Amino acid sequence: MVRTPCDANTAIERHGVLRLREMVRSANDLTSLSMTGALGSMNFSKPAVSWKRPMLPFKLVYSNGYYLPIGAHVFPAEKYRLVHDHLLADGIAEESDFLEPQSATDQDILLVHTPEYVHKLKTGTLSPREEMELEIPYTPELVTAFWLAAGGAILAARQALTDRISINIGGGFHHAFPDHGEGFCMIHDVAVAIRRMQRDGKIRTAMTVDCDVHHGNGTAAIFAGTRTRSDLLPSVGPGTQSVGPTGKMSGSHAGDVFTISLHQHNNYPAVKPPSSIDVDLPDGVGDDDYLSWLDNALSSGLRQFAPDLLCYIAGADPYREDQLGGLSLTMEGLKKRDELVFRVARARDIPVMVTFAGGYARNVEDTVAIHCNTVMAAKEAFLRSLSS
Ligand SMILES: [Zn+2]
Repeated sequence: MVRTPCDANTAIERHGVLRLREMVRSANDLTSLSMTGALGSMNFSKPAVSWKRPMLPFKLVYSNGYYLPIGAHVFPAEKYRLVHDHLLADGIAEESDFLEPQSATDQDILLVHTPEYVHKLKTGTLSPREEMELEIPYTPELVTAFWLAAGGAILAARQALTDRISINIGGGFHHAFPDHGEGFCMIHDVAVAIRRMQRDGKIRTAMTVDCDVHHGNGTAAIFAGTRTRSDLLPSVGPGTQSVGPTGKMSGSHAGDVFTISLHQHNNYPAVKPPSSIDVDLPDGVGDDDYLSWLDNALSSGLRQFAPDLLCYIAGADPYREDQLGGLSLTMEGLKKRDELVFRVARARDIPVMVTFAGGYARNVEDTVAIHCNTVMAAKEAFLRSLSS
C-alpha cells in the first residue's frame, strides 16, 4: 500500500525518527516511499527513497565571505569554498543543508575582546609588532571576514542547541587573545559564540575540545578562571615538566568553560597558558596513541564537568603531510578522531558545535578531504543515532 506523505510522516514520528522526516521531505522522495505494517514498520519499494543526495540531519554554516584576503600564504584561504564545493559535488550535502551567517556585531566581539583591540582593528591602527604577531596582512576586508567567521560560530552554536550538532565550514581561530591576535587568528570566533550563548541564557557551561596540532593558547587565556587541579585519570599523574616519549596530560580546572587541548608539544606557540586539560604530545605521534590520549582526555574532562555545549575545534593539521605540524595521523585516523568526539558527545546527549581551524597539507586537496571527512563522520554518527 502506498500511503500519503502525511501518513508516512506520522509513522516515522512513532518510531522516534523525527528528523528523518526532513530527509525525505522532497515531494519526489515521498511519492516513492511505501510502508507496510500496522505501526508502520517501513519497507522501501523499488525505486525506494533516493539516498543518493539525502539532506543532512543537521545544518552546515558557510559563506563565500569566509575567504581570507591574505594573498599567497601558507594558510589556504580558499579551503572553505573548496570544502563547500566538494560537499556538494560528492553528494554529501545539498544547498539546502547550508545556512548563511550574518556578521557578528561589535557587541558580540566585545564579549571576548577588549575595546582597545577592537578599536585598533576597526581603525587600522595596529602597531607593526601587533600586525607581525598576527602573521597575516591587515586590511579592512580581513576584519570583515573575521567578524563574519564569528557570526558563523554564533549561528552554528545556536543551531547545535536545536539539532544536537552543527558544523561551521570555517573558523576555529584559537590563537586570538582578548587584546591581540596571533598565528593567523584575529578574533576568537568560538569564544565569542560561547559568550553570546551564555549572554542569551541558552547555555551556562561549555567545553572546548581542541584537536588542532597547535595548542589553543587563546582559548586557555580567555577562559582561565580560578583554577584547581583537574581530576586526571589515576594512570596519569600530574607529570613532570618534560614530555616523555608517549606524551603528558596535565590540567587545572577553570570556571564555566572547560578547555581541552591536544597538541604537539614542540610546536607553536612557545608559551602555552594552561588549559583545563592539556595533552602535550611528542613529535610523530600516530593514530593509535593519539586516539588513546583523546579518549583519556574526554573521559577525564566529562567525568568532572558537565557542559551544556561542546565546541569541537577540528584542526586538519595533525595530518602527517602537514607543513606546519609534526604529528603523524593518517586521514583515516583523523576521521576516527572525529567519530570518537561525536560518539562521546552523542552518548551523553551534549550538543556539538564544530569549527575547522588549521590545515596546511602540502596538497590542499588533502586538507579539504580531512575537513569533508569531519562532515561525513558527523553525518554517520547522527544518522545512526536517529535510527537507533
Ligand atoms: Zn593549527
